[in-house]
Amino acid sequence: MATQLQSYDPSDQTLLGSVTLPSQEQITTQVASAHKAQSLWKQLSLEKRLEAIQKAYAAAEPEMERLAELLSREMGKDIRRATGEVHSTIYGGPYIAQEALQALQPVQRGRSTSQYTPFGVVAVISPWNYPLAMANNLIIPALMAGNTVLWKPSEETPLIAQEFFERIAPHFPMDVLQIIHGNGEQGRMLVESAVQLIAFTGSQQTGKDIMQRAAKDLKRLVMELGGNDPMIVMPDADLQAAARFAVGSSFENTGQMCISTERIYVEETVADTFEQLVVTHAANCRVGAWNLTGVNIGPVANRKQHAKVQAHIQDAVMKGATLLLGSEVQEPPFIHPTVIAGMQPDMLIEKEETFGPVICMSRYSDLDQAIERANDSSYGLGAVVFGNQGADQVAERLEAGMVGINQSVGGEGDSPWVGAKQSGFGFHGSVDGHRQFAQVKVVSR
Ligand code: NAD
Repeated sequence: MATQLQSYDPSDQTLLGSVTLPSQEQITTQVASAHKAQSLWKQLSLEKRLEAIQKAYAAAEPEMERLAELLSREMGKDIRRATGEVHSTIYGGPYIAQEALQALQPVQRGRSTSQYTPFGVVAVISPWNYPLAMANNLIIPALMAGNTVLWKPSEETPLIAQEFFERIAPHFPMDVLQIIHGNGEQGRMLVESAVQLIAFTGSQQTGKDIMQRAAKDLKRLVMELGGNDPMIVMPDADLQAAARFAVGSSFENTGQMCISTERIYVEETVADTFEQLVVTHAANCRVGAWNLTGVNIGPVANRKQHAKVQAHIQDAVMKGATLLLGSEVQEPPFIHPTVIAGMQPDMLIEKEETFGPVICMSRYSDLDQAIERANDSSYGLGAVVFGNQGADQVAERLEAGMVGINQSVGGEGDSPWVGAKQSGFGFHGSVDGHRQFAQVKVVSR
């Protein structure tokens, strides 16, 4: 008997719908079909694959409003952000494909040609915080490189994944793009199946499990993992700008963003002013359900996540931190804007990724020590410094894949989206990023 995966509106737990979970046998059959489909898909030229992607994504355009509403209801982000994500997925898909087309052209070096050939079947495993955009970053380059794709979306957002899948998949040859619903159990089955590359975006812990299971057959991996991004505020920083950034970055997507600012180290002589500015901006944020306008903070996407954020706040307070805004106990589904001062290295909120609308600050007197604390983490996704004199040198010393100086992280154009240390390896976007989805084959004549 088929098992169902149910999905609920995080703001009031209304049942939104359900999808069917596949059995082990069904997954094996799907992988076999993906291999069969790949033998034809790989024969299409890059231009033909681009054309198929353009057609599939154009077919989804009339449904954007409906998709945005479903995304918003299922994940909890407000309708404006959900619309932005749907637009960037549907309009951005063909753009990523075009970039991949350039990146995957053969390169001639003397009598040798480097060709970018497909691996075979790619498992794309994606998270719930940007349920379409994160998957898109992996599905498109995988398809462009001539692989077929089995997409396992998060168990927290199956309905939006299914809806999007149904809009685009029929426009590809049969079984070129398939979906497998489920949680870690189905994820593990997929990782251990006959796939050649696993393209994963999600938590560090899951990344380690996938890597261990993939080791048996030395399956290729692309991993974008979690972060615990630090921010350093120097004494000559524009404090208004820094405080606005801190609030925006910590609360974006209800704090459920891999590059959220999670830890702030502020120089002690400007700390009073900075903390006050942060509290003022944070207190102005509006909390509410998906369909209200002007909402900065929505419901936390699921109960497990809510409990984790609350546990981090309580641990910090128990160990001596001060709550400048917010409270220790908050009823689901919301975590109201929370500002904490006096963060210390032994607190969960400093050591681990919190992933909620919480701003945590700590004062420093010695810049070297602040940098040391910022770097004292297994994570290394993003880092930010606000300041003038010496800010470039601080940026140089921060151990992260992406560093922002007086601005957010993330490069322009086709710069890669990249993490350092245990925030992953492999990256999204850029020429090198797209080439990760292909096996390089050097042919000399
Ligand atoms: P998660 O690791 O719990 O789940 C991600 C996906 O992996 C889901 O589809 C899940 O079902 C699947 N999964 C779980 N266990 C598995 C296993 N053992 N084998 C195979 N698949 C398994 O992550 P999440 O809670 O969905 O997402 C939040 C995390 O993602 C945060 O850590 C966030 O920082 C990170 N993230 C990183 C980036 C980035 O670009 N670096 C972007 C978005 C999110």
